[in-house]
Amino acid sequence: MRIGIDIGGSHIGVGLINNGKIIKMEERLLTREYRANIKESVVNIIIELLNKIIEEEKVNLHDIEFIGIASPGTISNNIIVQATNLGLENFDLISELQKYINLPMQIKNDSKCAALAEKYYGNMQQYDDCIFLCLGTGIGGAAFLNGEMLVPKRVSGFEFGHMVINKGGRQCNCGKRGCFETYASIRAFKNKIAEVLDIDNDFSGEYMRENLLDLNNIKVKEVVEQFVEDLSIGICNLIDIFEPEAIILGGSFSYYENTIVYKMLLDKIEDPSSRFNKTKAPEIKVAKLKNNAGIVGATIQI
Ligand SMILES: [Zn+2]
Repeated sequence: MRIGIDIGGSHIGVGLINNGKIIKMEERLLTREYRANIKESVVNIIIELLNKIIEEEKVNLHDIEFIGIASPGTISNNIIVQATNLGLENFDLISELQKYINLPMQIKNDSKCAALAEKYYGNMQQYDDCIFLCLGTGIGGAAFLNGEMLVPKRVSGFEFGHMVINKGGRQCNCGKRGCFETYASIRAFKNKIAEVLDIDNDFSGEYMRENLLDLNNIKVKEVVEQFVEDLSIGICNLIDIFEPEAIILGGSFSYYENTIVYKMLLDKIEDPSSRFNKTKAPEIKVAKLKNNAGIVGATIQI
C-alpha cells in the first residue's frame, strides 16, 4: 500500500492507495488562517490526515511502502522550488515530513502526477506516444514517447502552458506575455465568461457548464469560440511537434466531455487546416481519473 498526498490550490488531500485504487481519502480546505502560515500548515495538515487514515483503516506503518506527493509549481530534486499560487519557495517538505514519518518519499509536479495516473490506470494506457494536458487554474502537462514519460535532465520542462500563442499578449504570472495558459486555462475561460456576463467569478465549474454556456447569448458565444480557438492553437502546436497517437485533456476540463465546448474543439482539431500533417488528427479524449488523478499519480514512482 502507498500514501498519496495532493497539495492543491485550495485544499490538501491524503489518500491510502493500493494499485491505483483509492481505499480511503481525507481532505482539508486551505483556509486563510492556514495560508497565513503555509509551510507549517501544510506539514501539520498532512501529518494529521495521515494519522487519521492509518488509525481508521488500522494500517501498520510497516505496510506502507512509499509516500508520494503531488504539488503545484516547479519541483527539482524533491524540493518545491516555487509554487506561486501557494506562496511556497524553496520548501523541503520531505525533510519536514520525515521528522515525523520515516518512509521513502517523492514529490512531483501535480500535472506530471496526473499524467502518470492516466498512463498507468486511465485513458492513456493503450498509447505509446501521447500527451497529457492538464487544464485548470493554469495549464500543465507531460509527454510520453515509446511509453516513457519524457523527463529532462536540466529542469522539469514540458511547461506547455507557457508556450506563447499571442506575441505581446496577456501578462502571465511567469513574467512572459501571451502564454497559452493566460488564454486557454479553465480559469481564464471562467474569468472571461464572468466578465461578459458582468457577474462575480465565484461560481462553480458545474454551474458554469450547466447554466452559463448558452450559445444563444452572443457575448458568451464569442467567448466560447475564442476559447476553443486558443485551446486548439496550443493543442495543434503540440500535435505538430510530437505527433502523438492521443492527447488526453485533464484537470477541470475532464468534466467538459458532454459539452458543446468539447464538440467544437474536436471539430477544430480535426480540420486539416489547423495542423501541419493533413492526416487524421490524433485521438482527443478527456481524463478518466478526473480530480483523483493527482493523488493516484503521486504514488507512481519514477
Ligand atoms: Zn507564462
